[in-house]
Amino acid sequence: MPVVPSGAAGTVASRAGCARPRGVWSAAVVPASLDVVVAGAGPAGLSAAAACAAAGLRTALVAPSPRVWPATYCLWADELAAAAPALDLDPAAVAATYAPTVVRTAAGGERWLDRGYARLRNGVLHAALLERFTAGGGELVTGRVNGVRGQDGGGDGGEVAVLAGGGELTARVVLDARGGGPGTAQQRAWGEVVAGPVEDLVPPGGALLMDWAALADPAAPPAFLYGLPLDDGTVLLEATSLAARPPVPLDDLRARLGALLAARGLRPAGETERVAIPLDAPPRRRGTVLGAAAGLVHPATGYSVASSLRLGPRVAAALAAGRDPRPAVRAARRRTTAGLLGLGLEVLLPLDTAATDAFFAAFFTLPERAWAAYLDVGSSPAAVAAAMARTFAALPAAQRAHLLRTVLRVGGRAVTRRGR
Ligand SMILES: Cc1cc2nc3c(=O)[nH]c(=O)nc-3n(C[C@H](O)[C@H](O)[C@H](O)COP(=O)(O)OP(=O)(O)OC[C@H]3O[C@@H](n4cnc5c(N)ncnc54)[C@H](O)[C@@H]3O)c2cc1C
Repeated sequence: MPVVPSGAAGTVASRAGCARPRGVWSAAVVPASLDVVVAGAGPAGLSAAAACAAAGLRTALVAPSPRVWPATYCLWADELAAAAPALDLDPAAVAATYAPTVVRTAAGGERWLDRGYARLRNGVLHAALLERFTAGGGELVTGRVNGVRGQDGGGDGGEVAVLAGGGELTARVVLDARGGGPGTAQQRAWGEVVAGPVEDLVPPGGALLMDWAALADPAAPPAFLYGLPLDDGTVLLEATSLAARPPVPLDDLRARLGALLAARGLRPAGETERVAIPLDAPPRRRGTVLGAAAGLVHPATGYSVASSLRLGPRVAAALAAGRDPRPAVRAARRRTTAGLLGLGLEVLLPLDTAATDAFFAAFFTLPERAWAAYLDVGSSPAAVAAAMARTFAALPAAQRAHLLRTVLRVGGRAVTRRGR
C-alpha cells in the first residue's frame, strides 16, 4: 500500500496526462497496490515503464520532469530494428536512418560501413513510449526518488521508493533508472548545427561516424569529427574526444570545431550540443538497476540507449511472469565482457592522435560481426576477446608493442574494476 501523504512535494499526472497540483496526491490516482515503481524517465526508465505498463503491471514512473530528452541519441539501425517490436515502435517513425556510415582515418583512408546508423527522433519516441505507458494504466509521478528500502530483504513487504518531500511508494519492485555516476574517464563532445555545404565531410543521406583526420592536431588530445544530417536539411557536426581521463575541457573541443567551421566559412545555425558521458562509472549495486545506473554504458563509445531499449521489455516480461528481473539485467551487461571492455578503454586512454587514428583504421578492417560484437556490452566475452585479438593482429608493429605494454601495466586492474 503506498503511503503518499497529502502535502508531499510533487505532482501526479493522470492517464489523460494532465498534471495535478503539488501536494494533492491521492490513492485514487496512484493505485493502492503497485507492481512496479520506476525511478527516472531517461531512455532506460521510460522504456521499462512503458513495457511494464503494457505488460499489465501496475506501474508508477517517478521523474523530476517528463520532458523530451534534449541529447542527440544514436544507435545502429539493426539494434533499433531488433528492439522496436517489443516496445511496439515503428523504427521508420522514431528514427532517421543513414547509409553509408563513414569512418575516415589518416592511416586507412575512407571506409564506408554497410551497417546502417540511426538517430532517434526524441520527440516521436518519447511520445510513443509515454502513450504506451499511459494506455497501459501507468501513472506519472513528478518528483524524485531519494532512496529505496527493502531491496535486500526479499520478503513479502515489497520495496519502498522514498520520495523527496517524504512520500513513499510501495511496489513489488523498484526499478532504479536514475542515471549513471560521475566516473573518472569521459567522452566529451561539442556540437554545432550548420546549414552550409559539408558533403565532402558528411555524404548526403549518410552519417560520419568518425573522421580522425578532420581535426587532427598532434599537439592536442585526440579528437574526431562526427556528423549527422538532420531532418530540416542542416547538419550536426561534433568535435568529439572519444575517451580521456581527465576529460578534455568542452571549451577546447568548441575551439577545435570553431576553427574547422571558420576555415570553411560556416556559422552555427542551431542549438549547441554538449556531450559529457562518464565511461567508467561503477554500476549501482543495490536492487534492480537499469540503463547508465546499471553500467550499461559502453566504456569505449559511451552508448547505452540500444541496450536500454532492449532491456526494458525483458525486465517487464520477467516481472509479468513472476520472475526476478535481475538476471535479465545481468545478461544485458555481462561482468566478464565489461571487464574486457574496461581493459579496452584503458588501452585507448594513453594513445596520442596518430596512434588512435591507426587503432581505428585497424579496428574497422575487421568483419562487421567482429567489430559490432565489440561495440555491444551484451556480447559474449569470447566475441569481445576475439575482436580484441583481431584488432591487435591488424595493428602496425609499433602499436602492438604499445598495446602489450599497456595491457601488462593496467590489464588486471582494469578487468577487475570494470567487471564488478
Ligand atoms: C549529449 C549526450 C549525447 C549522448 N548520445 C548518445 C548516443 O548517441 N547513443 C547512446 O547510446 N548514448 C548516448 N549518450 C549516453 C547515454 O546513453 C545517455 O546518457 C542516456 O541518457 C542514458 O540513459 P539512462 O536512462 O540510463 O539515464 P539518463 O538519461 O541520465 O536518465 C536518468 C533520469 O533519471 C532522472 N533522475 C535523476 N535522479 C532522480 C531521482 N532521484 N529520482 C527520479 N528521477 C531521477 C534524471 O532526471 C533523468 O531524467 C549521450 C549522452 C549525452 C549526455
